Amino acid sequence: MNARVPVGIVNALTVDVEDYFQVSAFESHIDRGDWDGTPRRVEANVDRILALLARHDARATFFTLGWLAERHPDMVRRIVGAGHELASHGYSHGRAHDQLPVEFLDDIRRAKALLEDLSGHVIRGYRAPSFSVGPRNPWAFECIAKAGYRYSSSVYPIRHDHYGAPASPRFPHEVHPGLMEVPVATVRLMNTNLPAGGGGYFRLLPYAVSRWSLARINRVDGRPAMFYFHPWELDPEQPRIAGISAKTRFRHYLNLDRTEARLSRLLRDFRWDRVDRVFLDGVQ
Ligand SMILES: [Zn+2]
Repeated sequence: MNARVPVGIVNALTVDVEDYFQVSAFESHIDRGDWDGTPRRVEANVDRILALLARHDARATFFTLGWLAERHPDMVRRIVGAGHELASHGYSHGRAHDQLPVEFLDDIRRAKALLEDLSGHVIRGYRAPSFSVGPRNPWAFECIAKAGYRYSSSVYPIRHDHYGAPASPRFPHEVHPGLMEVPVATVRLMNTNLPAGGGGYFRLLPYAVSRWSLARINRVDGRPAMFYFHPWELDPEQPRIAGISAKTRFRHYLNLDRTEARLSRLLRDFRWDRVDRVFLDGVQ
């Protein structure tokens, strides 16, 4: 597990900015109509992330939910002011495959316009909630391109019960004229793609596994890796959601008190930057 970490490759660090009650696994337990009445913790958690990144002098891409950006404009300005890339996680966190193309297009256009108004920057990146874009809904890439995005990071090429497209390419590729898909990192072992780009796996498995996997992608594939996490994953004090299954509870709350220390190690062990600088060099 002590793979040498290549020093030359810069990887892409990303944050999906959504609050603890907006995760897809809770959507049948928390009504969207109740979001406004639910205490939000996202701004304080994003501030912890900004401080952590500043300590390591690292920049990242923040895929931000439009619904939250509208309610926390100063948070959006702090993200941009610290030199990070602002990108879109859509407006209302609906999965792409649960929507009609016209609804999906409306949602991602609304988020882009809102984030551009708040930040004064062109928004180039989009990530679908729960990696809900893939071979079963190729129309979604067409919508993402039509909305004016230049890259998507909406595919996790692994096998998973809620998402995943194990046969999709592991590295950036054009999915529609003018639109590139930059998948979340996987490590290829015994003809299988294993998750290496964050999410619950980063909290579930020992840190050494993540370190080994990312180092292998850099060293064996010779490629940068795409890693992601959420603000609520650094917040062990978040209110507990009632009535969820044991599996969902385990996945959501496991090792929340360890995430920040693990991210610190990740920031120390590898080099990180924004997605646009790592993967879009030369793309306008
Ligand atoms: Zn999300």
